[in-house]
Amino acid sequence: MSLFLALANLGEQLAATKKKLEHSALVGAYLKQLAPPEIAPAARLLIGRIFPESDARIVNLSGAALNRVLAQVVGSEIEWSDSAVDFGDAVAQWLTTRAWQPQGPPLQLLEVYHTYEKIADATGAGSRARKDELLAALLRRASIVEAKYITKQVSGEMRVGVSEGALLDALARNTNIPAAQIRRANQLAGDMGAVAEAAIARGEKGLQQLGLQLGRPLKPMLAQSVASVAEALQEISPPVAFEYKLDGARVQIHKHGDDVKLFSRHLSDITVSLPEVADLARRAIRAQDAILEGEVIAIDANGRARPFQILMRRVGRARDVAQMQQEIPVQLFVFDCLYCDGASLFDAPNTARWQTLKNIAGEIECVPRNLIESVQAGETFLRAARAAGHEGVMVKNLQSPYTPGERGKQWLKLKPVHTLDLVIVASEWGYGRRHGWLSNQHLAARDETSGEFLEVGKTFKGLTDKEFQALTPRLLELKTHQTRGTVFVQPQVVVEVAFNNVQRSPAYKSGVALRHARIVAFRPDKAPHEIETIQTLREMMEREGQ
Ligand code: AMP
Repeated sequence: MSLFLALANLGEQLAATKKKLEHSALVGAYLKQLAPPEIAPAARLLIGRIFPESDARIVNLSGAALNRVLAQVVGSEIEWSDSAVDFGDAVAQWLTTRAWQPQGPPLQLLEVYHTYEKIADATGAGSRARKDELLAALLRRASIVEAKYITKQVSGEMRVGVSEGALLDALARNTNIPAAQIRRANQLAGDMGAVAEAAIARGEKGLQQLGLQLGRPLKPMLAQSVASVAEALQEISPPVAFEYKLDGARVQIHKHGDDVKLFSRHLSDITVSLPEVADLARRAIRAQDAILEGEVIAIDANGRARPFQILMRRVGRARDVAQMQQEIPVQLFVFDCLYCDGASLFDAPNTARWQTLKNIAGEIECVPRNLIESVQAGETFLRAARAAGHEGVMVKNLQSPYTPGERGKQWLKLKPVHTLDLVIVASEWGYGRRHGWLSNQHLAARDETSGEFLEVGKTFKGLTDKEFQALTPRLLELKTHQTRGTVFVQPQVVVEVAFNNVQRSPAYKSGVALRHARIVAFRPDKAPHEIETIQTLREMMEREGQ
């Protein structure tokens, strides 16, 4: 049986090298020497997860809980060093200054993993004390490097730079199983732990057993953004399918006889929150077994789409469901069919899947869709989608298979983009490939009345690696203070930011937040007092009906 220390040491080794091949060799060698039951937990921990994606349990202990338990175990409050890049790092630095010595027998890998499960499972009265006790018992026995990784794992900050893709690559290189086969198994199983265990301990046969299973959600296929109809038609040559892009919640519907389950984009089971959608699927789908995909939107009395945020009050909510059904009626539109009565349709072209969908959808609405051959026709369709109150359009390659979990160019999304000039007021240290860079930028707009800069969003998107590297020293010069992994800076760097829409947000003092913000340019020509105002953002929000 393996010690937890080996996993922590591997984390340190991975953090110390940026070479891909070395990473892959280290990860492969580590996983191969584990006992079979240890492989799945270790693989999940390496990619920063504790549970499979389809398992809704979470451990995420708050900073306050961690501070409380650490203070209790060590006997004094943790002090954050300025150079700490995350919670785990801060704990390691602090324990080193305290000359920390663990007590008791060394920690076993599975023992730590099962304790995480117990922490996640503790709910209800007395659960806070129970969680504290479980964590304290681990930390008392942890060496400094182990305490660092336990902290990272329970706080959801497992920053060792092993992405899911890197782990897939390591498995292919270390098992002689073709990468495509490993990737497919992961698409169908949605659990890197199960894939790693099958590939290493059971080989190709084991992987094949991880096929599609009704009732177990698949990762959704994703889309890349394009800026115009013309660009979309350059990426995919016509004829292509244009569909309305509805701004709601994605649902994956699994029907097995009368048993219907609905899964969210993040693979959680949301059936109880949308009973009328499940009933409709049970009643309407003309197949015994099927997996369909669609979008649920909130609608007003005239059947027009209501903002995404209103719908979010329903999705995943288990209380007051009947009342919410009255307050926020929803409508389901379907757009894909992945399985129908014994036949897996992933590898079938989009047109064939759409045809099956039309055949079995019964009274369920399919999303409005047209075959488009010219830029002009595409623009007319986009205008129609916008006029009907929707976000934009999805453009789909008629020949493409369904590739779970992948954001390729077979599906493109097109929505009108706004840009604003904002200022960076803080930034978070990156991890993985972005380790050592200030990568997640906190963006602020100006409050006309008080002159304050108030945060309206965060983004690590839009800049090239070189631009990030150049930005880091610039921000460090402007640093005022640091808490955890966040460096606060004087508001001087003005950036142009694209985003999709503005929404109400209690999380920010400004009350507004940008959705899907990304930096498009530095604006050295603009001074901080020239940037967008909170008042303008509030007006935009009102125009959008929020
Ligand atoms: P985004 O969330 O901006 O990355 O856009 C992708 C999302 O658009 C998908 O995950 C779906 O939830 C949603 N969507 C809306 N309409 C469609 C459609 N016709 N086809 C596929 N996805 C759609």
